Parts: sequence; structure tokens; C-alpha cells
Amino acid sequence: MYLTQALHRNVQAQPDQIATICGDRTRTHNQTINRIARFAAALGALGVRPDDRVAILALNSDRYFEVLMATAWADAVMVPVNTRWSVAEIAFSLADAEAGVLVVDDAFSGMVDDLRSACPGVRSVIHAGDQASPAGLEEYEDLIARTEPVPDAHRRGDALAGIFYTGGTTGTPKGVMLSHRNLLTSALGSAAAGIWGVRGRMLHVAPMFHLADLASVVGCMLLGGSHVMLPTFDPETVCRTIGEHQVTDALLVPTMMQILVDDPHVKDYPTDCLANIMYGASPISEALLARTRAAFPSAALNQAYGMTELSPVATLLRDEDHDHPVRRRSAGQAAPHALVRVVDPDGADLPTGSVGEIVCAGDHVMLGYWNRPEETAAALRDGWMHTGDGGYLDEDGYVYVVDRIKDMIITGGENVYSVEVENAIAKHPAVAQCAVIGIPDDRWGERVHAVVGLMPGQTLTLDELADHVREHIAGYKVPRSMSVVEQFPMSGAGKILKRELRIQFASAE
Ligand code: ATP
Ligand code: MG
Repeated sequence: MYLTQALHRNVQAQPDQIATICGDRTRTHNQTINRIARFAAALGALGVRPDDRVAILALNSDRYFEVLMATAWADAVMVPVNTRWSVAEIAFSLADAEAGVLVVDDAFSGMVDDLRSACPGVRSVIHAGDQASPAGLEEYEDLIARTEPVPDAHRRGDALAGIFYTGGTTGTPKGVMLSHRNLLTSALGSAAAGIWGVRGRMLHVAPMFHLADLASVVGCMLLGGSHVMLPTFDPETVCRTIGEHQVTDALLVPTMMQILVDDPHVKDYPTDCLANIMYGASPISEALLARTRAAFPSAALNQAYGMTELSPVATLLRDEDHDHPVRRRSAGQAAPHALVRVVDPDGADLPTGSVGEIVCAGDHVMLGYWNRPEETAAALRDGWMHTGDGGYLDEDGYVYVVDRIKDMIITGGENVYSVEVENAIAKHPAVAQCAVIGIPDDRWGERVHAVVGLMPGQTLTLDELADHVREHIAGYKVPRSMSVVEQFPMSGAGKILKRELRIQFASAE
């Protein structure tokens, strides 16, 4: 089982149906496979050999899809690069993955000189033009036009499909090696759970370099659907595109949902074709759930919990579970392809309700970390991926993610989950953003410390914060100290970097 298999099937089953829509370009499955076979030939002509790494640094577009598939077609390994990283971080990942070829679109062509000098291993750079317009496409189109198609390498299922970098929330980003079988297992399991429609139209507005969206690319291919690509997130464009192209399925990150449901344009465009919204990264608040239901009444909501190392889906919270007062706070049950347990530090199963480490097994578990045998050995034990996430199971197998284990605070012998405290703090009207960390404390071992960003013009004292939080959670979880900040250190994926806050506020009073 390999990724490009789905291209052949779609050409056989529906050659003249639409495969990709990007800007004013629409291409059929037949046209797309032909372009992929030609681009694969171009990669071969550039010296790409089996298992070589081909990196892509670009905004979402139909070409992004072609490059990923052409890389597999050419028997090579895809390395989608995080577009939010700095030049230094991108250079790190290109050098780490030892990429020989880099495909870059106009949004990032200004970085090419710096990247080339930082990464001498990059032999060739292919310019792929602007994302949505025909401008600057000459080099890319020329490559396709003057190359004869090559046959598909029909890469094996257990061969490396790509190296995907983690978000870098808890440390330096790690290259995760995923096979074709890994990616297809997660996508097939998710499809079997019915979270995507058959032969639908899938919106790609979340960045395609991230596995969340890439998994929906694979799912859509398998289900014979069409991809609708948007290079950047703009709420009005999203709403218009949904109506214009009859989008049926969309993967959104919670911040995008938040902006979309409040956007007045939702009402201006017919978005009732939208049948499925998939989101991940965190549970949805009650307020956001209600607003999403009101803004997109036709759409079923599904939440996924997962990680890059799990290709990425481990559990799914189905639409109807969102209306359950308790289960809505969970990440759902194991996805059809996944086994999930919660274990103690010795790997023994914990009873329901007890917090331990979430571990996951199945054919979607990564091959390992690229060039990091020690971290691979620590994470993968007897086929079980140790997620580093703390959580518990209920009697019906619903998984509740409480915190990253590294972010849990032990104060006076009690476990405090930073996420729970953050949720309580976030309910205060003066608070715009917050993070809770443990800092060293002579008396308690660790002390609960709140780092808070305020709404414009607002003030907040520690006493006011503590009084508010005490209404929601137990006394030992209430922050003992607080720092107000203007800005938080963020990862490229938009997550707050608590490891940096812990250093910054290690000796806060
Ligand atoms: P790094 O591994 O480099 O620190 P990262 O873990 O943030 O970065 P990703 O693989 O993108 O990189 O993120 C996976 C993590 O996101 C999970 O381990 C989990 O902590 C969190 N997560 C994902 N989905 C959910 C969800 N539905 N609910 C709660 N947490 C989630
Ligand atoms: Mg991680």
C-alpha cells in the first residue's frame, strides 16, 4: 500500500473529475497524474535517487500536492518544511534531513540565498512561482512541459514516505519518519470512522506542511475527492470559497474556527454545503462549540487527538459526542486503526479515571525519529508510542488529555495539570492569553505560577486572579505567583513555549 496508488485508482475510476482547484486553476485526475509523472521525471533528471529527500517550502497550492506526490512517484522522500519557521530553523531542518532538492514558491524565494549558503547539501532549488496566480510559474511549468513522464516507482508500503518535523513545543523539533503504510493507516482509519465524505470537496486552508492537513490530503485522495487549496487564511475568502466550490469537508485549527465563527461574512455566503469540520490540537470550549454549530449548522464536528509520530490520528471525538456534557471535554475514543492505553511509568495499565501516560499502538506508529536513535528508543517501547501526554480513560474508552507530562506541576505532593488552571484563568474577562508553569519553590517543591497577557486597557492583581480561579478549581491548584507579559514565546505552530517561560521566570517572586 503506497500513496500514489490512490492517484491510479482515481484516474481509472473518474479520469475527468476534478482533482485540484487552486485560484482559477482546475485540473482533472488525468491531468494531475500526468503532471506528477512529469515532475517526477524532472526530479530524476536533477539527480534524485531512491530515498533521497526532496524538501518543499511553500504555501498551500495545487503544486504543493503535485510535488509531494511526484516525490513519492520518483521513489524519494518528502520533507514538507514549516513555513512559519525562521531562516535558521528552516536551514536546520534542511540540513538535518539532508535534503538535496528544495522546491520553493514566491512567498519564500527571498530566503533562498541564505538557505543555500547555510545548507550546501541543497544541490538544486526549483522555483514554483506564486501560489494562486499564473505569475512566475515559468520555471515550474517549463520543467513539466519539457520532461517526458516516467512510470511510478510504486514505492513499498513500509518504505519511508516522508520526514515530518514536530511542532518544537517541548524541545528542538524532531524529524519523524513515517512510511506509506503509516500515513495510509491513519487516513483509512479516519475515513472508516466517517469523518470525511466520499468524493467530496476538501478545503486545505490549514498549512499543508503540517501533518494535520496532510492527513486530510491523503484521506481525500483515498475517498476520490477534490482538493481545494487556499494559500493563506482569510475568513471572507474561506467563506466565499466554501460556497463557490461547494466545499464539503474542512480541516480547521481551533484559532481558525474562532475567527471564522465570529466573521460577519459567514452569513453572506452559502456555506450549507459544508458537511464535515475536523479540528484538533485541543478540546473545544462550550462557547466555541455553540458558535460553530450556529455558524455552520450543516456541518458535523469531529475532533482528533494525535501527534506527528502517530501519522497523526490516535482518537476521534464524533459529532454526537459533542452534545454529551462530559464526553465533550474528552478527545474521544480510539480511532478504528489505533490501540490506546493509559499506563504508569513501568508500563502497567492504570484503572479508569487514573492519570498516566497515553500510549498508542498500530500500523500508524512512526518508524522512528530521523537520526535520533536514543529518542526513538525512549518513545517507542514494544511497538507502543509513548506520547508524553498525560491523560485518563473512562469506562467507555473515552480518552481525556489532561496535560503534557513535562508541563504537569507537583506542588506539595499534589499533581496540578497546567491546562486545567489555564482554562480557569482564561474565563477571567481581563485575560487575553495565559500559560501556567511550575517554578522551583523551597517549601512546595514547585509552585504554580501564572503568566498572563491582558486585554487592552485591563489590569489584574494576583489576588483578583486567585479569587477568580478559586471559584473553578481546588485551592492547591490556585497560582501562588503571577507575571504579566506583553508577548509570549510561541512555536511555529502557534503553541506557547512553556520551556522558555520556565527559564524566564525560574526565579520569579
Ligand atoms: P514537540 O513534539 O516538538 O514538542 P508538538 O508535540 O507540539 O511538538 P505535534 O506533533 O504537532 O508537535 O503536536 C502533538 C501534540 O499536540 C500532542 O502530543 C498533544 O499534546 C497535543 N494535542 C493534539 N491533539 C490534541 C487534542 N485533541 N487534545 C489535546 N491535546 C492535543
Ligand atoms: Mg510532541
